[in-house]
Amino acid sequence: MARTKSILTEAKQIERAVTLINLGARLQVLESETDLSYERLLRLYKEVAGKSPSKGQLPFSTDWFMTWQPNIHASLFLNIHEYLNKVSALDEIDAVIKAYQLYVEQMQAQGLEPLLSVTRAWRLVKFVDNGMLTMTACSKCGGHYVTHPHEIARHYVCGLCNPPARAGKGKLAGALGSALGSAVAEH
Ligand SMILES: [Zn+2]
Repeated sequence: MARTKSILTEAKQIERAVTLINLGARLQVLESETDLSYERLLRLYKEVAGKSPSKGQLPFSTDWFMTWQPNIHASLFLNIHEYLNKVSALDEIDAVIKAYQLYVEQMQAQGLEPLLSVTRAWRLVKFVDNGMLTMTACSKCGGHYVTHPHEIARHYVCGLCNPPARAGKGKLAGALGSALGSAVAEH
């Protein structure tokens, strides 16, 4: 019985790893989220992706999430992720996978490039878990956006309400705004 269970557990882990590879995850994500050995993950990666995984460090800084467009993408993803955690009992990594798939669907529906990679989405959830990032409600529109934890909510204005001068109130801001709005409204 124990043997059967361990095979099923392994099958589930392989399935998760394959899903993550197909979404473009870095090998470090797979190492962190499964018990499969590095050698097996490497083989799996090559088989599924048809190439070797890219080398190099994962992005460890929170800075990327604070820049204008990435912040809006990250906020959209995190709103979906928080919603899924509220209404379902998914394992942590499955919630990241599902939320990321929904985020990509939203981007495609808006005809936009998904700026947030699944590896960054996964990092973002870790940053929130360890208190390095949080969500703050915009004092103008009330939407929830990724911020540093010390943000003063009373004064906080999001990137859609206050886009950088060079960006203007462009098509992108409008499309992202409606994606963010509909993602939250639908749920
Ligand atoms: Zn706002």
